[in-house]
Amino acid sequence: MAIGHEHWHEQGEIYALGALDEQELKEFEAHLASGCAICEAYVRETREALLLLHRSITPMISCDRPGSRPQYLPPLPPPTCRA
Ligand SMILES: [Zn+2]
Repeated sequence: MAIGHEHWHEQGEIYALGALDEQELKEFEAHLASGCAICEAYVRETREALLLLHRSITPMISCDRPGSRPQYLPPLPPPTCRA
């Protein structure tokens, strides 16, 4: 278990995003099931961080999608989606 724990941390980040493929998911869940408290805590922390990040960016992207308007144009009037 001492070997390659960085690998599990990488997997843990992707796991927290829900983006592991089927094989990796099986391996990581098996690792968690083996009782690794480090990875369990790591996944929990990563999920909490992602949740905060998600909350902080959601209002922007739901209102005015990035890339839908060139950056060099002057700001738009207040978005209609505020209502
Ligand atoms: Zn671990």
